[in-house]
Amino acid sequence: MSLINQQLNDTYQQVAEGQKKWRQTKLEDRVKMISHFSTLLAEQNDFLARILTEDMGKPIKQSRKEIEDVRGRIQFFIENASHWLSPKNVGSGQEITYDPLGVIANISAWNYPYLVGVNVIVPALIAGNAVLYKPSEYATETGKKIEQLLHASGIPQDVFIACTGDGSVGEQLLDLPLDGYFFTGSVTTGQHIAKRVAEKLVPVGLELGGKDPLYVTNEVDSLEEVANACVDGCFYNAGQSCCAVERLYVHADVYDQFIKHFVEGTKQLKVGDPFDEHTDIGPLGRPQHVSFLSEQTREALDKGATIVLGKETEGIDQGFFPPTILINTDHSMSIMKEESFGPLIGIQKVSDDTEAIRLMSDTPYGLTAAVYTNNHDRAKNILQELDVGTAYINCCDSVSPHLPWSGRKLSGLGTTLSYLGILAFVHPKGLFPKVI
Ligand code: NAD
Repeated sequence: MSLINQQLNDTYQQVAEGQKKWRQTKLEDRVKMISHFSTLLAEQNDFLARILTEDMGKPIKQSRKEIEDVRGRIQFFIENASHWLSPKNVGSGQEITYDPLGVIANISAWNYPYLVGVNVIVPALIAGNAVLYKPSEYATETGKKIEQLLHASGIPQDVFIACTGDGSVGEQLLDLPLDGYFFTGSVTTGQHIAKRVAEKLVPVGLELGGKDPLYVTNEVDSLEEVANACVDGCFYNAGQSCCAVERLYVHADVYDQFIKHFVEGTKQLKVGDPFDEHTDIGPLGRPQHVSFLSEQTREALDKGATIVLGKETEGIDQGFFPPTILINTDHSMSIMKEESFGPLIGIQKVSDDTEAIRLMSDTPYGLTAAVYTNNHDRAKNILQELDVGTAYINCCDSVSPHLPWSGRKLSGLGTTLSYLGILAFVHPKGLFPKVI
């Protein structure tokens, strides 16, 4: 056993002991500590935002917003956990009770470390689990701050521990006899984790990538407003959102006008220093990803796409990639099939809803899909044909804590958020009394 392995093993023994006490702590006391955590996030918002921006290049105003938004999610758990975790009387004296899983791992991504972290950490702790938290190596300082603030809120030191480092630390967590693995990240790593822990037969949650489509129909009131919403959906956080809009399909009747507004709207985005209050797009979280985006752009251009904004290779040295729009794309191109995870979008013209549904469905992913139309029934008819976890009507790239967050097909397994995302961190137990 390597030294790191030995250290992690000791850490595991520590949290396994800690969890035994933690599960006996009253639910209301666990909730109070999480509430205190939320207060600390608010008090330290500006300071924490600077660390997040330093970690992964998110524009400072978006870092502040992430930390503010995460408090809404925490509030959801604070208000709902005790209802969903309380024993349920199902008649004839029979009851369903809920036991924590035990010690779980949360192996996390860097793009929204607070939001994706809290989806797991908060309900898991409230439900009485201990957590070994592996923040992304691209958000290490933020991961350490999350640990510090949880401890400062009263969560015991032996109940939540951040195990920082790269994928090799995550790999070692897979060797430990943990009671659940909850992962956010790429499909490749997610599949690897699922295979590695399969024999343990413990719960596994995977929140993975997407290639989320958005369809603009020929029934919208203001094309300019729709185009601006699409700009946000495609380019917020430099497109590094699991549910970022990654493919646009536009009805032929409104295509030219939509492109005009979309390009105009995108031109308003300011690219630059992420600490500048006016910046909308900073450097990519992983500078080496610029070459992937450049390659995806080049391949599409070689196959006949047209670039209407951006440049194929701009900013390669500094880790920047400018917002880039390609039209005349088709499904022979990687830009319409493989996750880009950057400020790059392909647009395709469609003649009707049948063609839109066919193209939107032509993907191995199934995270979200969006339709813009003022005809609600039309939107619902289209969306019910799509194999996705979240279906948006006249909005996109948004997450509600009240709704289950789950990917289908290669986008993942299991659910966070909503009441299902609370019950994901417990084992139900049936109590079957018989009078003798
Ligand atoms: P990644 O798979 O490279 O890394 C994720 C985490 O896994 C990191 O902490 C990393 O250190 C760890 N890891 C790497 N190799 C490992 C191994 N062999 N064993 C155990 N752990 C290992 O992903 P990323 O670049 O951090 O995240 C980007 C991806 O995450 C995108 O595809 C994005 O769509 C997806 N994502 C999905 C959601 C969702 O809710 N569905 C949310 C955010 C991000």
